Amino acid sequence: MSVSENLAYINEKIEQACEKANRKIDEITVIGVTKYVTIERTEELIAAGITNLGENRTEEFLHKYGEIGDRANWHFVGTLQSRKVKDVVGKVSAIHSLDRLSVAKQINNRSDDPVDCFVQVNVSGEESKHGLNPKEVMSFIKELEQYNRVKVVGLMTMAPHVDNKAEIRTVFRKLRNLRDDVMNQNFSHAPCKFLSMGMSNDYEIAIEEGATHIRIGSKLVGS
Ligand SMILES: *Cc1c(COP(=O)(O)O)cnc(C)c1O
Repeated sequence: MSVSENLAYINEKIEQACEKANRKIDEITVIGVTKYVTIERTEELIAAGITNLGENRTEEFLHKYGEIGDRANWHFVGTLQSRKVKDVVGKVSAIHSLDRLSVAKQINNRSDDPVDCFVQVNVSGEESKHGLNPKEVMSFIKELEQYNRVKVVGLMTMAPHVDNKAEIRTVFRKLRNLRDDVMNQNFSHAPCKFLSMGMSNDYEIAIEEGATHIRIGSKLVGS
């Protein structure tokens, strides 16, 4: 399938999910995750109209950024090591995986301007997943106030790989409730309006539960 055919299908599903949830389509940002594919395939995605791209490894990000540069808005969606922060600041529109103060400190040291960050939460509690325990999120975000170049724009999570849709929905709903709690604090460093959740297998459920940023790889560009 061509990227534009995949995108047409996904856009239709997004539209249906929005209708069901009484939301507007322009509330949803589609991030095309290009980690599996070549520059050529990534160019097809840009040509199809997707300009928000996601990568999860610094090496691959730098490779693609070298070719594509600022023709796309880049989202760093993978775990970021402190020593790699310098490779991405100034190049990415947002970091979706903040879950350590050491990384926040590096962002603060390495950037001249505030960097949009999503705090990653391990809602499902799976050991294999990165992110904070939901109970730690509020105090973590309070601590981030000392780093004035870290701006918490939202929360991010990954749902478990299960067939049980109710279980996936519960995970997304918990993230949304947590987002509401943070937003209601009116922190100036953490407006926390956004929810980065939903991937190829669960983006429709995520939209129904309030996602603003969906990260789609395999169903869009193949794997
Ligand atoms: C790979 C990846 C995605 C996209 O996954 P698909 O299931 O292929 O859509 C989204 N988010 C993160 C953090 C990823 O690593």
